[in-house]
Amino acid sequence: MILPGGTIGILGGGQLGRMMALAARRMGYRIVVLDPSPKCPTAQVADGVVVGALDDVEAAKQLAKQVDVITLDTEHVHADVLDQLEAITPVRPGANVLRTIQDRRTQKEFLDGLGLPQARWAPATTPAELDAALAKLGRPAIVKVRRAGYDGKGQVRIDPDSDAHAELAKLKHEPAVAEEVVGFTREISVILARGLGGEIRIYPIAENAHRRHILHTTRAPAPMREAARARAEQIGVTVAEALGHVGVIAVEMFELPDGRLLVNEIAPRTHNSGHFTYGACSTTQFEQHVRAVCGLPLGDPRPLTGAVMVNLLGDLWRDGPPRWEVVLARPEARLHLYGKDAPAPGRKMGHIVLLDDDTRRALATAEQLIAALTPP
Ligand code: AMP
Repeated sequence: MILPGGTIGILGGGQLGRMMALAARRMGYRIVVLDPSPKCPTAQVADGVVVGALDDVEAAKQLAKQVDVITLDTEHVHADVLDQLEAITPVRPGANVLRTIQDRRTQKEFLDGLGLPQARWAPATTPAELDAALAKLGRPAIVKVRRAGYDGKGQVRIDPDSDAHAELAKLKHEPAVAEEVVGFTREISVILARGLGGEIRIYPIAENAHRRHILHTTRAPAPMREAARARAEQIGVTVAEALGHVGVIAVEMFELPDGRLLVNEIAPRTHNSGHFTYGACSTTQFEQHVRAVCGLPLGDPRPLTGAVMVNLLGDLWRDGPPRWEVVLARPEARLHLYGKDAPAPGRKMGHIVLLDDDTRRALATAEQLIAALTPP
């Protein structure tokens, strides 16, 4: 067990690392972060920073020597780097979890191997592979790069009338997979934590709405029938156990009109759709992750209230800082800003959590706030 007073190393200094660091420091841990920028969101609240790229093995080793355990802000740290760090200090989640997850093809093979439902897929790196994939899957289909894609980046859609090879060329020969386009009724995510000893704690299921491929709102708990909730949770638990995961993990799913669930994506870390846990649950996903990777008993994930989270994208900063007064005037609103200094369209700059048992009302409030913050 790594008790408060110990030092946690974080690979990657984005907002997830920042919120984890804030939770860890509240509990008395020290934080050292590896990131290319000494001014990154996590570095602003850390005890130490190692400046370096995430694939810089020497920099990562320098971090490893200063800490009691290493964890991640992003799943895009190369598993081979983690292998080398594991010889110096524990890495949680471990290199093998990342190796399975960070390549979409390996992730899909893993899910198939477990017999878990997902959209039909096929390899699609070359034009010949894409032709075979489209023959199998039909159109429309989505082609996604195998590595390092997020928020719809590194994806192209092949519609019935589009030039498939021209679309594929936009991915610049990156290894890729094709998926059938799924006519889902909604997206949900199961966020849970698995402790060092294998114990599991599951958060209320989140219902997610995307805009321009970027998460827009989450509401929790997702209104759901008991049997569907149990099935979603079972899929999440199966994934976490099969990976031997330690820490928080998010399993994103599509819900189909007939109620079936398909796994879309696994993120072996804290997740944007789990931000509601800060305020809405007894233990936040960030404290829970710290507890898991330090080998502590897990906290209580119980919901204290319903909640809606809405992301604040850089578009809101077009004419300068948004009018935060309108958010701060609402007693149920919690404002989170990540300390990023370069707002860009589509860039996640912060979020608001609305604590309200009436989550339909909270969704409406979220839209009102975004409208009020949007430059004219
Ligand atoms: P991803 O980066 O794979 O999570 O994709 C981002 C978003 O694109 C998802 O949250 C969905 O809204 C949409 N999407 C991705 N894959 C599919 C699919 N196979 N069918 C329909 N929509 C998809």
